Formats: sequence, structure tokens, C-alpha cells
Amino acid sequence: MKTIEGIHHVTAISGEPNQNLHFYKRVLGLRLVKVAVNYDDPSVHHLYFGDETGSPGTIMTTFPYANAVSGKRGSGQISAAAYAVPEGSLDFWVERFASEDVQFDMPVERFGEKALAFDDPDGLHQELIETPGMEAVSAWTKGGVAAEHAIRKFRGVSITVRDVGPTTALLTDYMGFQNAGQEGNRFRFLTPLGETIDLVHEPDLPAGRVAAGIVHHVAWRVKDDAAQLEWLEQLKRLGFNVSPVMNRQYFHSIYFREPGGALFEIATDGPGMLTDESVETLGSGLRLPEWMESMRERIESRLPALKY
Ligand code: ZN
Repeated sequence: MKTIEGIHHVTAISGEPNQNLHFYKRVLGLRLVKVAVNYDDPSVHHLYFGDETGSPGTIMTTFPYANAVSGKRGSGQISAAAYAVPEGSLDFWVERFASEDVQFDMPVERFGEKALAFDDPDGLHQELIETPGMEAVSAWTKGGVAAEHAIRKFRGVSITVRDVGPTTALLTDYMGFQNAGQEGNRFRFLTPLGETIDLVHEPDLPAGRVAAGIVHHVAWRVKDDAAQLEWLEQLKRLGFNVSPVMNRQYFHSIYFREPGGALFEIATDGPGMLTDESVETLGSGLRLPEWMESMRERIESRLPALKY
């Protein structure tokens, strides 16, 4: 099988759009790399945050609903997304979160790394992990966070499941992730790119409900369409109910539910965020796919006004 290299993006359901935009752009200091719409419901934005060019592995995306209903945390969910920051930077982040009224827990040690858990304004669980080698990775600093502290990329995701066995089999036997040990009820796996996937075992936790403040899905990256088609066929053979290939403008996607209940996507690296904007102008205005361009006026009139 063609390799699943690691994380492509993580997508969450969010609340009020400007609060959402402010948090990821100004508090976390990520670059707003794309302003698009939910292709299934163009009255809602689709915001993409990431590094300077919106590289796969850095992209957090949100669907911010102005009148969002809060979701319910539970099993069968991606329960946290984690970002990699340079070693020694968590003191800075603790101070920043305290001064920005962000909900957070004091840093803890996990698998030998320092982890700082925090929530976005909608209660979405996320983490900053001090990760060796991040100083050498280029940083987006125009969001107001200096390079010595800035988020570089995703460090990993946690998935909460009632039964770790079936999801473990998918991750290791088929997706090729490495088993990297256990700490308490946390079972760790590594992607080929070295990201950490933690299965958090909560045998008695009821199923959650995806709405604001909850991750909708995690997308795994493959190099190209051929690799994706191979995965589509493989997943069908394994008995997964997998979607047809969908054109998401910046990548092509297929979706399926892992055995624990969380939604997985497999996305292609290309064509990428620079397909309709230059590096300089990324995220500077609403981008619509060709098939929606004729409806631009009507779509724009229904979207909430974003304060960039
Ligand atoms: Zn996605």
C-alpha cells in the first residue's frame, strides 16, 4: 500500500466566526491561509489556519457557525489536537493564555514531553507540546508570536475510544503507524512523519455529539490521487463504508469512520493552498471554487462579516 505519511489537517466545528478568527490568528498566532465556505452549506465560512504556505501537517480548519449549538465530548471522537512548539516555550504560552483569558491547565509531563492543554473559546480541547527540533522549522511570526515560541505544525491528535483493539489494528496493521508504548490509559502510535496518535481508552464513556467545540475529523495525507485511490479500494476491501473522492479545491478527499467511531479523511497533498492565491495574499479574501463563482454575490450577502 502507498504510505499514509501523517496528518494533513484537522477540522473542527466552531461558534461565532470573529471570535474564532481572532483566537487562531491572534492568540495562537497561526496564519489565516484561506477564507472559503462550507461547500455543503455556503452560508457558513470554512477558515483555514496554518504556516506561511498552509502546508499539509499544519492546517487547522474550522466551520464557524454564528449561532452554534455546543457539542458533547465523548467516545468515538478526536478528543484533542496538539501542536508542536519549541522546547522551553511553554512558560511563554502559560502567561499568554492567562492574559488572554484562555482556559488552560498547568503543563504536565506525558511520554517525557511537556504538554500544555487549553481550550479555544468554544471549548475545543487542544495542546501545545514542547517538541525537540522545532527551532529548525520555519515559523509564521506575523501573528504576533516570536519564532522562539511559535507553533510550527501539528504534533498529533488524541482519539477517545471505548475499545482500543479495533482502532489499534487499523492504525498499525493497515495504516502502518508504529506502536510507541502506553502511559496509563493512553496508547501511543507514530505516523511515518513522527506525529503522535494517542488512543485514549475510556471504556465507559458514552458517545459524544459533534457540534461547536468538537473536532469533526482528522485528515491523513497521501502524496497523490493514485495513492488515494489505492486506499479507497483497500478500505472497501476491509469492509469500511468509504465515501467517493470529493474535490475540496485544495485537496481531494475520501472519508470513513474508524472502528471506534471517529471520522477519518484521507486527503491528497495537492493541489494545495497556493492553487488560487499567492503566498503573499493567502487568506486575504473569500475564495470560491469555480462552480460557485457565479453565485458569489448571493453567497457573500449571506455570510457573516469577517473582521480580518
Ligand atoms: Zn477535512
